[in-house]
Amino acid sequence: MEKQEFSVPKLAARLKTEADAYRFLEELRWGGEPQACPLCGVVGKFYFLKPANGETRRTRTGSRTERRLWKCASCRRQFSVLTNTIFHGTRIPLRTWVLVIFDMCSAKNGVSAWEVSRKYGITNESAWHMLHRIREAMKREPVAGLLRRTVIADETWIGGDPKNRHRSGPRVKPRGPFGGTDKIPVLALVHHETREVRAMSIVDVTGKNLRRQLGRHIDVPNTHLWTDSAGYYRQLAPEFADHEAVNHKAGQYKVRGGATTNAAEGFFSQLKRSLDGTHHHVSLWHLDRYLEQFAWLATNCRKSDSERLRMLINNVDGRRLTYRPIPGVA
Ligand SMILES: [Zn+2]
Repeated sequence: MEKQEFSVPKLAARLKTEADAYRFLEELRWGGEPQACPLCGVVGKFYFLKPANGETRRTRTGSRTERRLWKCASCRRQFSVLTNTIFHGTRIPLRTWVLVIFDMCSAKNGVSAWEVSRKYGITNESAWHMLHRIREAMKREPVAGLLRRTVIADETWIGGDPKNRHRSGPRVKPRGPFGGTDKIPVLALVHHETREVRAMSIVDVTGKNLRRQLGRHIDVPNTHLWTDSAGYYRQLAPEFADHEAVNHKAGQYKVRGGATTNAAEGFFSQLKRSLDGTHHHVSLWHLDRYLEQFAWLATNCRKSDSERLRMLINNVDGRRLTYRPIPGVA
C-alpha cells in the first residue's frame, strides 16, 4: 500500500463496510495476502474462502457476516486477519476498532473509555476492554534491547506526592497492588540519543529497587547516567561509565557538558496531565498499562498519526488479553 496519510474522513470513506475493514487490516498487516498461517506457522499456500454471494456468508447462528476467511493448505484450518491478535473474538465492528485505534494513536492525552463508549455507541465495559487491548499492542517488546550511551533516569509519584498531603485529610483506604497506599513511585528512563522512553512502576524508591530496574534496561558499564542529585543514584554511580547529577535544589537544571533531566520531567508532566485530565482515576492495578501507552506515545512523538497507526497495527499479533474488565474504571 502506498504510504498515504490517514485522517478520520479518509478512513471513514475507505471503511464503508466490515469487509472493507478486513481488507484494510489485511493490507496493513500482510501486504494484502497472508504470509504465514497464524495457527500452524507454516509459510505456504492459502485459499481465500470466497462467500457464495460475493460479500457475506452465513454464520452458524444464521445471521450474515462479512468476515473474510482464509484456509491454510497445511493444517486445513480457517483463519482471518484477526486470529491470534488483540482483535481475537471481538464482537465490536472492525470499523469501530480502526477508528478507535486512530484516536489512540493521535491523542496526546489519551482517550477515556467513557469517551469511546459515547462516541461509538458501545458499552463502557466494551470500550474499557478495547482500550486495554490497544494498550497491549503499545507495550514494549519483552526482549527489547538494553539502552546504552546516555540515559536519563528520574522518578516521580503517581497519585500525588504523599509529602504534600494534609495530615487531617481523609484516611486512604488500603488498596492497590502495593498494599496500603494510593501513591506509587514511577521510574522513567529516557534514552538521550533516540528519545526512547521506558516507564515502570516500582515498589519503593530504594537503591536496591532502582539498581534492579536500571540493570534490567541499561547496559550499565557502557552508559553515562544523568539524574538529579538524589543519594541513591550517587551510590549506584560507580557502576556506570559516568554519572552526572543535576542539583535541582541549588537551582541547577543543566550542568556543563549538557547533562539534564528535563526530558524525563517533560514526560512526567505530560503523563500527569493525561492521567488527571483524561483518565481522572487510574486504577493502580493497571497503572503499568497506562505507563506503556504514554511511553509509546512519547517514544514515537516525532512520527505522524498515520505512521503510529501503521506501527500499532503491525504490533497486534500474539497479544491477546483474557482478563475481565473492572466495572466503573475509566
Ligand atoms: Zn496452518
